[in-house]
Amino acid sequence: MKSHAKVVVVGGGVVGCSVLFHLARHGWTDIVLLERDELTSGSTWHAAGGMHTINGDPNVAKLQKYTISLYKEIEELSGQATGVHLTGGVLLAATEARLDWLRGVVAKGRYLGIDLEEISPDEAAELMPLLDPKQFVGAVRNKEDGHLDPSGVTHAYAKAARKLGAEVERFTKVEDIVRRADGLWRVITNKGEVVAEHVVNAGGLWAREVGRMVGLELPVLAMEHMYLITEDMPEVAAWNQKTGTEIIHAVDFDGELYLRQERGGMLMGTYERANKPWSELQTPWNFGHELLEPDIDRIAPSLEVGFRHFPAFQNTGIKQIINGPFTFAPDGNPLVGPVRGLPGLWVACGVMAGFSQGGGVGLALSNWMIEGDPGADIWAMDVSRYGDWATMAYTNAKVRENYSRRFSIRFPNEELPAGRPLKTTPVYDLLSAKGAQWGVAYGLEVPLWYAPEGVRDEFSWRRSSDFEHVAKEVRTVRTSVGLSEISSFAKYRVTGAGAAAWLDRLLACKLPKPGRMTLAPMLKQDGRLIGDFSLANLGSGNSSGEGWFLAGSGIAEQYHMRWFEAHLPQDSSVHIEALGARLTGLSIAGPRARDVLAKVTRADVSNAAFPFMATARMDIGMAPCLVGRVSYTGDLGYEIWVAPEYQRAAYQTLMAAGEDFGIGLFGARALNALRLEKNYGSWAREYRPIYGPLEAGLDRFVAYGKETDFIGKQAALAERQQGGKLRLRAFVVDAADADVIGDEPIWFDGAVRGWVTSGGYAHHSKTSVAMGYVPKEIADEADGFEVELLGKRYTARVQPTPLFDANLKRMRG
Ligand SMILES: Cc1cc2nc3c(=O)[nH]c(=O)nc-3n(C[C@H](O)[C@H](O)[C@H](O)COP(=O)(O)OP(=O)(O)OC[C@H]3O[C@@H](n4cnc5c(N)ncnc54)[C@H](O)[C@@H]3O)c2cc1C
Repeated sequence: MKSHAKVVVVGGGVVGCSVLFHLARHGWTDIVLLERDELTSGSTWHAAGGMHTINGDPNVAKLQKYTISLYKEIEELSGQATGVHLTGGVLLAATEARLDWLRGVVAKGRYLGIDLEEISPDEAAELMPLLDPKQFVGAVRNKEDGHLDPSGVTHAYAKAARKLGAEVERFTKVEDIVRRADGLWRVITNKGEVVAEHVVNAGGLWAREVGRMVGLELPVLAMEHMYLITEDMPEVAAWNQKTGTEIIHAVDFDGELYLRQERGGMLMGTYERANKPWSELQTPWNFGHELLEPDIDRIAPSLEVGFRHFPAFQNTGIKQIINGPFTFAPDGNPLVGPVRGLPGLWVACGVMAGFSQGGGVGLALSNWMIEGDPGADIWAMDVSRYGDWATMAYTNAKVRENYSRRFSIRFPNEELPAGRPLKTTPVYDLLSAKGAQWGVAYGLEVPLWYAPEGVRDEFSWRRSSDFEHVAKEVRTVRTSVGLSEISSFAKYRVTGAGAAAWLDRLLACKLPKPGRMTLAPMLKQDGRLIGDFSLANLGSGNSSGEGWFLAGSGIAEQYHMRWFEAHLPQDSSVHIEALGARLTGLSIAGPRARDVLAKVTRADVSNAAFPFMATARMDIGMAPCLVGRVSYTGDLGYEIWVAPEYQRAAYQTLMAAGEDFGIGLFGARALNALRLEKNYGSWAREYRPIYGPLEAGLDRFVAYGKETDFIGKQAALAERQQGGKLRLRAFVVDAADADVIGDEPIWFDGAVRGWVTSGGYAHHSKTSVAMGYVPKEIADEADGFEVELLGKRYTARVQPTPLFDANLKRMRG
């Protein structure tokens, strides 16, 4: 075994081997994979070997498509058979709601280049002879489904990597990982030590234990999973003989089952409701090529449905039941990327569909390590989407929920209950008493809307029970004044002698003067967005030295801290901290917002003294606050930042003062309706690391001419000169009873040319709005656009100026 390597990959399952292969293919060959046993000794060897392109997140779906396309290449490179059978498959719906969901999947496939087609149950039965068409209302055909040999694929990755110069050490157990003073990592094994620049935790079933070696508690948990294999079936033999082809894959969502042919019989697997975690606290190191005891009672309810939906199963015997463990993150997507605070330490774990996702994970990780960027939008898999709040108990609750809902529909207005409430702010019970219906962002409870007694969300793809109540909240803001809880923003304080110079290089905007705020796009080296913030200068130039205040997307706190810390100067001249729950927020907005504020503070908040984008410390009642004159509603408004111990007092003071002006509460859904009629985008929807500032319409906040060579400047200048490829546009949609939620295709002149990033109903303007990206060549066309919604196309028109307050009178007045 070598004593030094550029990269050590820990774990020789399908994921570790894919990472090794991708690093080697990218040209890094001073790399070694350490496996404590034989390759495939974790979850990999007993997988059912199914693969498919469909995923709830379109960017993960793209990486799944890539994974499937890769198998031919690694087979040729390695000479090792992968056993890939691209049979195609059918996705089955037994209810209308499921069919609506599947139509959304088909629509998404159109702009992702995934070949999906809605078919009738009878057509499905012609393709998959074992199903009873009477049990279903519709189906979708997917040509890119198939299965493979899990061990063959893993060895093919490893052999191909070795051919390119990588090394694989089997029976080499990593026992500890220690960071040296010079930043290199000591990887200590039962056979000696390797010193490495980078270490990748691809420990699969033992990813938690490997994480703990460096003080990391990763949010992953293994679950038991069962599939059965039948005896040979005459129906299968007859079909094979008649058509010369295998029986194709089927996913029966309402039965919570997946099926495929296995030799002369069938394989049927299920994600059962009564699920069971495995090794909740610690995975035993002596677990190897073993299976768990099957528990047929647990899967009996699913099998019952399966035998009804696929009657031939009633006449066959079960040859074998496989029960094996594999790991999940709380949302079921992988955990990939560099770990904040541990330079050179990477994770590639929590991969629950290794044969659909392993290739994409390896590609993204190798790009990231070698190029400094994953090369794709992998937010849905980024390890930084979780923070310290994702504790072991939280993970346990969420993984169990996610497993049991693997094939369930999640409606756009459906909030999942497990692991909640976890983080709450001091006004939580006060808002609950007013009917707050809660959602969650980065572990924190967020009020979505306020329901009258007895009214709750009815889950639906269409406008629902909240519609008129959200409309009322919007009306309150636009006609008098509304108050909302805004603690879910991420808040950062930047201090130190070097803070201004550092921010000037980090952010693409011009720095604001003391007492002023600005919108601040943050770019990567390739000129694409990696963040958008509001930046306030709290008097950096004066003796109080309060420094700078940044507010940004709450869900991206860890993501942004990783970026900030990676770019801090070595000389300790800059200090940045995420304030998290140590700073809470309230916002008031609407034409009477100033009247309310004036009533509760001695500060002069007149338009002349405290204009748009001003910021100042002031007391609200007795509570010391930081107030910024800005509002995401696009109305006259104020963001109020307050220490949690004062939040209740500030809230009660504002509500009492607002009574005379008709103050009311509004939640995140009303805020969405309000920002849509201002064409305001938001992080993780309109603003993502695949778009340039010009494309995203944020170029007006980029100080292209500033002297400082800010990160991404050259690329941003090039984008401005060449015009980029896409444009973000707001569309008014002639929708009837449903609004877009995001990821719907945008059609132009009869072809899919773009995609929706978000949308909804703009209650004040009384119209349905969609925001999305289209090619710049067509972005300003007056006619020809349509948005596909629940299987139908609706006319959409570009809305070039905001529907509300286009001349900014309300916001700045
Ligand atoms: C019953 C069942 C059916 C499944 N069906 C499918 C399917 O149809 N399609 C699909 O895509 N997925 C399926 N899966 C899931 C699939 O198996 C996993 O997604 C995949 O195996 C994860 O691979 P991995 O490399 O991350 O982890 P693992 O396979 O667990 O590999 C981790 C490796 O790391 C090694 N290791 C850990 N710690 C150390 C250490 N300290 N030192 C050295 N080596 C170490 C382990 O020995 C192991 O070999 C199924 C899983 C099960 C259980």
